[in-house]
Amino acid sequence: MEHRTATLAEADRLMTVCNSCRYCEGLCAVFPAMEMRRSFADADLNYLANLCHNCSACYHDCQFAPPHEFAVNVPKVLAEVRNDSYAHYAWPAALQPMFRRNGLWIGLICATLVALFLFGTFLWNGAGAVFSAQTTPENFYALMPHNVMVALFGPAFLFAILAIYMGGRAFWRDISARDMEDGAHQSGIDYARAGHDAGRLTYLDGGGDGCMNADEQTSDNRKLWHHLTFYGFLLCFASTSTGTLYHYLLGREAPYPWWDLPVVLGTVGGVGLVVGTAGLLRAKLRQYHDVRDDTRFGMDAAFIAMLFGTGLTGLLLLFLRETPLMGILLAVHLGVVMTLFLTAPYGKFVHGIYRYLALARFARERRGEMVPQDA
Ligand code: SF4
Ligand code: SF4
Repeated sequence: MEHRTATLAEADRLMTVCNSCRYCEGLCAVFPAMEMRRSFADADLNYLANLCHNCSACYHDCQFAPPHEFAVNVPKVLAEVRNDSYAHYAWPAALQPMFRRNGLWIGLICATLVALFLFGTFLWNGAGAVFSAQTTPENFYALMPHNVMVALFGPAFLFAILAIYMGGRAFWRDISARDMEDGAHQSGIDYARAGHDAGRLTYLDGGGDGCMNADEQTSDNRKLWHHLTFYGFLLCFASTSTGTLYHYLLGREAPYPWWDLPVVLGTVGGVGLVVGTAGLLRAKLRQYHDVRDDTRFGMDAAFIAMLFGTGLTGLLLLFLRETPLMGILLAVHLGVVMTLFLTAPYGKFVHGIYRYLALARFARERRGEMVPQDA
């Protein structure tokens, strides 16, 4: 079968070997999904790659792993296919090159936006107002009115949602095209099952023992760090959403006292983000090197750094909001959050969307809703 890239061709070769062997079928969702196919088109490989959680269990269990002549390294090749798929489906196509040297791009955008927010804050308010804004009842709205924040962040947020939706839709259509044409039915149960598996990271446990590290010890810590990061992010988002509802529905303006819901959600979420991302970076550095896609380390590191920066600057802003540093911290925090919004569709952020969609399709296949493939 013809493939778009050499990496996809290699993934096809490996899946063909694995489909004959099937020793790893109990480890995760990839192998049962693979066994439902007799051949592997690009869309199938992108689907399987996004089901893989890179736990590395199948590499360590494999009798055909290097130095065997078959050179089977499923985690590494699927990681490469998965990382390529983010760029392949990204919208608009003109921004797909951002996935090359992704860490550099995101670093440059973040530095530029933080500098712009700092420059704008000082230019608009003057240094005296910036360093004394914490003394006014309006606090940070004295430096940047709420309507200005909405005018800046609203379009950035909506653009990110649109771009992520378009990319996810292209991925979904590609991996489901054949089944949908033939009338396979995707039900609400499949989406709920995918939500359960994504929320629990069901397949990030190496078949039960945890991920293998460079010191050849298994550990489940990656799952823990990922949970802290993911749920920390959700809590921070809930904090911002609650603050918006307070502002528009209840007419209550920030800053809120420490015990109020937006602050409690933001504090717990921020701590989760900072601790979780620090743990994820450590786990990434300790991961068994043979199974990593080192060519995309910059993309992974940039995503982790953006989430860490969002959590850390948010917490600093919260705890130092009654000091003269508040103005500078506000500008830095807004620059980091704006970068997170604008770059979300063009970085590792999209892995959560693609993985959820792949799990939703897997849930459908597991129910038997799949059209049998011709040889
Ligand atoms: S990874 Fe190796 S052991 Fe596992 S199914 Fe594939 S060929 Fe068999
Ligand atoms: S690395 Fe883990 S999740 Fe990926 S295919 Fe192998 S066993 Fe499955």
